[in-house]
Amino acid sequence: MGRPSFLHPFAKPASEEFIEIVAGEGALVRDRNGHAYVDALASLWYCNVGHGRREIADAVAAQMHRLEAFHTFDKFTNPAADQLCHEVAGVAPMNDARVFLTSSGSEAVDSAIKIARAAHATAGSSQRSVVISREPSYHGVTFGGLAATGLPANQARFGSMLPDVVHTQKDDLDAVAAVFAEHGERVAAVIAEPVVGAAGVYPPRPGYLSGLRELCDTYGAWLILDEVITGFGRLGHWFGAQYYGVRPDLITFAKGITSGYLPLGGVVVGDAVLAAFNHEPDFILRHGHTYSGHPTACAAALANLAILRDEKLIERAPSLGERLATGLRSLEARGAVADVRGDGAVWAVGLHQGADASAVRDAMLSRGVIARPIGADTIAFCPPLVITDEQIDQCVDAVGQAVETARPV
Ligand code: PMP
Repeated sequence: MGRPSFLHPFAKPASEEFIEIVAGEGALVRDRNGHAYVDALASLWYCNVGHGRREIADAVAAQMHRLEAFHTFDKFTNPAADQLCHEVAGVAPMNDARVFLTSSGSEAVDSAIKIARAAHATAGSSQRSVVISREPSYHGVTFGGLAATGLPANQARFGSMLPDVVHTQKDDLDAVAAVFAEHGERVAAVIAEPVVGAAGVYPPRPGYLSGLRELCDTYGAWLILDEVITGFGRLGHWFGAQYYGVRPDLITFAKGITSGYLPLGGVVVGDAVLAAFNHEPDFILRHGHTYSGHPTACAAALANLAILRDEKLIERAPSLGERLATGLRSLEARGAVADVRGDGAVWAVGLHQGADASAVRDAMLSRGVIARPIGADTIAFCPPLVITDEQIDQCVDAVGQAVETARPV
């Protein structure tokens, strides 16, 4: 066929070898040669209800037949978007929340930063533009999300970033306090993933997130929790905020809201931020995407949320995570991996120095498991919440064997 036309994300432009995934069911996917793999990362941290759910396909088809799409700018709305925002606001740990909709996590982060700044400006504090983030972290690839992201390699070659974004090292609350002490009047928001996900899987040290909440309260900044991975069941609650007992002002979400059946993301906006907008009765939120509130994407989300509820999949996350963690810790105990970290149903192993995580990933592929390498030394696991015990054990065995074969010489 010659050179592929598809220029792949996060790949070398010259790459020519790809694994074509053509089918999926539950926690399994199949390639075009018929090989089955356990999807140990729920595709890209999103497929919480598993692959091949007819209920979602049917809901999408029904919505398509009724009305495929219509915009929601200004005076227009649709029942699927209204119902979805009602349900999301109802499970979020905030009072009287409202929900802004996007099509991806990056757009959700950009939206949260814009809403945070605009709310301060409307309340008379237009000098509040600083966003405090941390390193490492992953908040997306659009310029707002990329500026917030604490991974210098992702920012390299893309020119100047959004100004006024300050990074502190993960878990270093004193560093955040120092930024507030210096720039307190200018800080719009702190943004943090409850568990750092795509930047390496690091749960927060105890007290870190509540410490951020206190600093935000003291200095009048908003707390944005980026729950693009942790939202919709990953930590055994609707949101990671509930797992860690923190009340954010804004929550960004995507991925698990539809389990990826269609692209959808958004921002839960709490009462304090909404109240700030009320300072100016004529204020118009001049922000929105063509597909904000896309009815077919919202129909997929509603069917997905029904599955999460009806099958009690959120309640399942802690026990499946425990089985996975126990298996990974047994690898650590026998010296196969350097460390095990995670919470709920998102875990990672740290590899010994000199290891090559991509080689470990490849060796796992040949054992029928797709996991994700992060940097040189981390393999991440974030399985569909429908994964079976046997499939969890297969993931553990595969990484245990893969580190042996891929061991540096
Ligand atoms: N925030 C977090 C916490 C994420 O994990 C991701 C994606 N991995 C994003 C934002 C960006 O989402 P998207 O890729 O849908 O733009």
